Amino acid sequence: MQKTLYFATHNAHKLEEARQILGRTVNVLSLGDLGCHDDIPEDADTLEGNSLIKARYVWDNFSVDCFADDTGLEVDALDGRPGVYTARFAKNNNFHVNGDSSDNWRYLLSLLEGKTNRSARFRTAITLIINGEVYQCEGVVNGTIAYRPFGLHGFGYDPVFVPDGYSDTFAQLPAKVKNSISHRANALRSMLELPVLQKYFS
Ligand code: IMP
Repeated sequence: MQKTLYFATHNAHKLEEARQILGRTVNVLSLGDLGCHDDIPEDADTLEGNSLIKARYVWDNFSVDCFADDTGLEVDALDGRPGVYTARFAKNNNFHVNGDSSDNWRYLLSLLEGKTNRSARFRTAITLIINGEVYQCEGVVNGTIAYRPFGLHGFGYDPVFVPDGYSDTFAQLPAKVKNSISHRANALRSMLELPVLQKYFS
């Protein structure tokens, strides 16, 4: 029988991405499928810490095998910022232009104005809990920050992130391409390779 893993997310887009990668091996269900509509706090100061908080919350409250992720954008010219503060970058710095999530990349472009070192990476940390035991892994995609936004697909910083090996931003690339090379895809693949999951599925 196919095993079930709960993904500690309310985000339908992330759930779909996870199903595309794990779907053949495992039945991926979401917090909604558990009847959990809580907004789980993410107040750790590392990506690993935040993913641990979310996975632990699910294990402690529902006792089901589960995993959680947390992603940060690390920009070399900014000494690795925004990192764990990626989701709230503009808000934390009182930067307000559009009042929506595009303010994050607008703020990033403003900080990088005149800088030629544009290298950056998205990093995703995953915490997996199987039978109460904690396992962690990560996935990275390296790239550069464009000088201005391009493309309409995706979300977050996609209009300004150009993955290595491509000349288009994530927001210009078809979702299928982005989802096959992204930080989350790489982290999910690393999770599948963890010996505990190999054993779990055998
Ligand atoms: P989360 O931990 O997956 O919620 O990611 C934190 C923040 O990173 C999000 O709010 C987005 O701003 C950004 N982010 C994460 N993944 C992506 C992506 O695939 N493209 C663009 N931005 C992303």
